[in-house]
Amino acid sequence: MRAVKWYGPFDLRVEEAPEPTIRLNEDALVRPTAAAICGTDLHVYTGALTVVPGGVLGHEFMGVVEKVGKDVKRFREGERVIVSAWIADGSCWFCRRQLHTQCENTNIFGMGPAYGESLDGAFADLVRVPYADTVMIKAPEGVPDEKLVMVSDALPTGHDAIINAGMEPGDIVAILGCGPIGLLSGMCAATYGASHVIAIDMVRERLEMARSLGFTTINASEVDPAEEVRNMTDGRGADIVVEAVGKTVEPLRTAIDMVRKKGTVSVVGFHLQEYNIPVGGLWLTEKRVIFSIGNPIRSGERLTRLIASGKIDPSRIISHRVDLEKVPMGFELFEKKKALKVLVKY
Ligand SMILES: [Zn+2]
Repeated sequence: MRAVKWYGPFDLRVEEAPEPTIRLNEDALVRPTAAAICGTDLHVYTGALTVVPGGVLGHEFMGVVEKVGKDVKRFREGERVIVSAWIADGSCWFCRRQLHTQCENTNIFGMGPAYGESLDGAFADLVRVPYADTVMIKAPEGVPDEKLVMVSDALPTGHDAIINAGMEPGDIVAILGCGPIGLLSGMCAATYGASHVIAIDMVRERLEMARSLGFTTINASEVDPAEEVRNMTDGRGADIVVEAVGKTVEPLRTAIDMVRKKGTVSVVGFHLQEYNIPVGGLWLTEKRVIFSIGNPIRSGERLTRLIASGKIDPSRIISHRVDLEKVPMGFELFEKKKALKVLVKY
């Protein structure tokens, strides 16, 4: 089969690889029909996260069940499924409480040994899916792949950022960073009744996309975004700020500055470092800062219904569609911010 393998920073190659097999009774094999390149994949691409050379990338995907292990009860061969990017065993203390992202046996496809066993990813013609009964979500009939594929990862990440922050109808929600997660988060906030979604970025094309989705936009290269948000909210600040930039302390500080007293900063940006943040100021103003990882296993089914009924259409943010052979080019465009969301077809 074909597989997109990582050999080092910026070095992806499409090669032949042996097909995976069922190894445990809870496994399934899934033949992908659509996948997407995720921001987290970029951390591997650039070398910020290390994969074993020769590891297969890709974790946001859906497809058709090719084969199931003998303990898989909910799925059969030939069924169309979305596969949660996060693996969970479905049985530990955390899973029993629907806290799958903290599962004792968590893992992610194509992320190398960062989470224990190195699991080959979805940019290949066949994928082994562990704990299939927990990890797979039934795809509703008649809804095209490109609307559903982001239920695997990016959409629940955006969705749960809003839900975990406790958004209420009528809230003013600011989105810091108009990459895929930020935009999807804004879409979910709008669907759940935010009165205003304010989208902040510095890339013109991304701000245009945000405007086309009905958000108010602020170009952070032209004005101080926190001050601008306060101007829009009678001096208070936003009820909820989704921090979808990550990597450095700056966006986190801006988000804290931008949220109103007793409001919530919901951090979905990717952070690996320790920082100084103004805890004294947070205490006095009772601002909350929460960290949020999307849970496709818990939120996936609800999101497929919202998509099937037309309430949310994640495919609106797809900017490029590539075949499996062109995945390395897709990464290059995404890394240079020339692509917003790259869909992979098989
Ligand atoms: Zn678990």
